[in-house]
Amino acid sequence: TMACLTAIDAGDGLGAFVHKTPEIALEQARAADARLAAGNAPSLCGIPLGIKDLFCTKGVASQAASNILKGFKPEYESTVTAQLFGAGAVMLGKLNMDEFAMGSSNETSCYGPVVNPWRCDDRELTPGGSSGGSAAAVAADLCLAATGTDTGGSIRQPAAFTGIVGIKPTYGRVSRWGIVAFASSLDQAGPMTKTVRDAAIMLGCMAGHDPKDSTSADLAVPDFEAALTGDIRGRRIGIPREYRMDGMPAEIEKLWAAGTAMLRDAGAEIVDISLPHTKYALPTYYVVAPAEASSNLARYDGVRYGHRAKLAAGDGITEMYEKTRAEGFGAEVQRRVMIGTYVLSAGFYDAYYNRARKVRALIKRDFEQAFAAGVDAILTPATPSAAFGLGEMANASPVEMYLNDVFTVTVNLAGLPGIAVPVGLDAQGLPLGLQLIGRPWEEGDLLNHAYVLE
Ligand code: GLN
Repeated sequence: TMACLTAIDAGDGLGAFVHKTPEIALEQARAADARLAAGNAPSLCGIPLGIKDLFCTKGVASQAASNILKGFKPEYESTVTAQLFGAGAVMLGKLNMDEFAMGSSNETSCYGPVVNPWRCDDRELTPGGSSGGSAAAVAADLCLAATGTDTGGSIRQPAAFTGIVGIKPTYGRVSRWGIVAFASSLDQAGPMTKTVRDAAIMLGCMAGHDPKDSTSADLAVPDFEAALTGDIRGRRIGIPREYRMDGMPAEIEKLWAAGTAMLRDAGAEIVDISLPHTKYALPTYYVVAPAEASSNLARYDGVRYGHRAKLAAGDGITEMYEKTRAEGFGAEVQRRVMIGTYVLSAGFYDAYYNRARKVRALIKRDFEQAFAAGVDAILTPATPSAAFGLGEMANASPVEMYLNDVFTVTVNLAGLPGIAVPVGLDAQGLPLGLQLIGRPWEEGDLLNHAYVLE
């Protein structure tokens, strides 16, 4: 803990930590020492973590990197952080992210961007998003691991951009209680770690049934670490042909082939599969996620949380809502709220939202059919490229940024577990990751396949 606190103070020119909590960290570390001395150390005893700013932490600023939550200190602890602290973990502070987890480059944060610790010449690169602070902090050794959340790729894409491991569990495996909601039918929290083994251990501490989240599954949490045997002989790995996109960089193709070879060499059988509705995933996601976001973000009204705009004489409640939300939400969040309210509006509900829900069911069915045909895991690239430069997308259309999520959103739409594993470097020496997608509730098996790739 001391080493991490020193590293954060000395080295966080990256902008990863937005609130540091050294007093809490030292208190938790002392308690961990006592538990160690007493001989009853739980699995994360004394392990210093960074916590994404999306998690509510009792008495500690939790802003979801938004100005509208300025000054908000929750009265309660999220289930995930409560379980991590119960397992002996230490909180070093809160980590930067895209505002309300909307973004793929950490550039929509009210705190400003995060710099990827990986450099290419003198170019500053994005660590990805929305869990960019989590990814950068782990990759730069400012903490041993971090929490992330993933609605459409926000754990897996930043993990791939920074050369670390990130797993999005099956929807319902980890409680969403106390995590600021973005798109509730897609959101899942998961660990971001240096190794697959760390991810297995940390996921075990984050997962489990929680009566406070009605979508949390009442299933026992298996020993994920025990699943890491490295034995995948006879397992069937699906390679989905629809993920071979036009214009895919040769380096990504090469990486995918290398990963396929590693799994084959370990005794797995490689099979070509088809997930025919893949091409509809991105537009489906960018209807469903904003729709749910517009509803979830209605609660930021200037009354219940954080910021309230200064009002002029004669302003009524409508002006208070309008001014507060115009000042408090950044451009990307406003765009999502506008899209979401549009696709949910009476005249367009059937054409957009209802249509998207139906296509979502087809995307899910593609995966179900592949698993029913005997596929155990699916291997794809995690991202269409290595980390891009900070500011590089500033003048691009928002859709170009959304294209980053092309390989990851399918997994959230289908509610499946997905993991990003660092597998190689590109010609410029930047990390590249592959994604493995598993059967629902089979995170242990998924982690074991990732263990072979690591
Ligand atoms: N980049 C995607 C988005 O902006 C995913 C974000 C996430 O997973 N939280 O919606």
